Amino acid sequence: MSIFSHPDFDGHEAVHAFHDEASGLRAFIAVHNTNRGPASGGTRFWSYASDADALTDALRLSRAMSYKNAVARLGIGGGKGVIMRPANFASDQFDREALFRAYGRAVNDVAGTYVTAEDVGVSPADMVTIKTQTDFVAGLPDTSGDPSPVTADGVFRGIRVALRHAFGSDTLEGRSVAVQGLGHVGYALAEHLSQAGASLIVADINDAVTARAKSELGAKIVATDAIHAQPVDVFSPCALGGAINAKTLPQITAKIIAGAANNQLATPAMAEHVARAGKLYAPDYVINAGGIINVDAEVSYDRYDPEWVRGKLDELEETMDEVFTRARKEGSTTSAIAEEIGRMRLAERRDWR
Ligand code: NAD
Repeated sequence: MSIFSHPDFDGHEAVHAFHDEASGLRAFIAVHNTNRGPASGGTRFWSYASDADALTDALRLSRAMSYKNAVARLGIGGGKGVIMRPANFASDQFDREALFRAYGRAVNDVAGTYVTAEDVGVSPADMVTIKTQTDFVAGLPDTSGDPSPVTADGVFRGIRVALRHAFGSDTLEGRSVAVQGLGHVGYALAEHLSQAGASLIVADINDAVTARAKSELGAKIVATDAIHAQPVDVFSPCALGGAINAKTLPQITAKIIAGAANNQLATPAMAEHVARAGKLYAPDYVINAGGIINVDAEVSYDRYDPEWVRGKLDELEETMDEVFTRARKEGSTTSAIAEEIGRMRLAERRDWR
């Protein structure tokens, strides 16, 4: 399998492949860029159809982390770990703890150029297992903890900036928001929005969380295939990627699209279509950086300082403002401006080794 001529190879500094016969571990750790600090990004545990698919994911996701971390001006670079779920998982024949111990040794072998955290498919218990083998782990329950509340705080702040740009006022009073996905981030965001006076429309495949939002926050519940089309001011994708696609965009009436989900645009070309449809899109990796800010608070400093985290969220608001302002003035898409800011900040090199 080729790396250097892979379509998603983007000057990655290192791509490591790991195999452990005894536990069945097959994993990649991709270190995209360490200019700003040790590469950081969560580890994903997923069923991949092939190792080529897993490698593609590692290459793409690590690059995305470089941009996210650089835009937020963090002291960490971009990296990603990807573990291929053993094929016999359905019959639960593999030893999960042994697998994550082997992965912990792999992270340790990368010797601090990569610091891992949680991502899709990895639980807090798995992180504790990884930690038995390496110190290059962040976001454990007894350290900076669950990043979701900080992510929700950042998204809430970003929505206010977007409101100011779209409507001239950042008040939530009298505004309506459709939240797609009421998970760790979506529910916390819905609480912020409701407390600030917004009316909510929500959808989730999990009926228990929508019922809770109805009783606690007075939210209206709609079907998951109708949430994007609600007549609201803000559509907030907080579930999976690809919420903005050729089918959904023509049905979205909200002026603002701003949520926590990663990879909200189904394709990069959607950025242009969204702008042409007159919608203000908050680039996902700018607005959802709260979680990685929380991780950096642990990776780069001796002591977790909530004050520092709040300062970084203030900066996130400033960056959102810059993205919207420049996109309007330069007639560009918000995604293109975010990418440009990312490229510039990625070039800022820090002597950290
Ligand atoms: P989560 O798994 O806790 O929540 C996702 C929610 O979406 C769940 O309640 C799930 O039932 C729901 N969902 C799934 N499919 C749906 C559908 N088709 N329609 C409506 N709801 C659906 O995840 P999370 O931690 O809240 O993260 C949400 C999104 O934000 C993800 O895309 C994640 O990558 C991104 N993100 C999260 C963080 C963080 O700090 N947790 C940081 C940055 C980005």
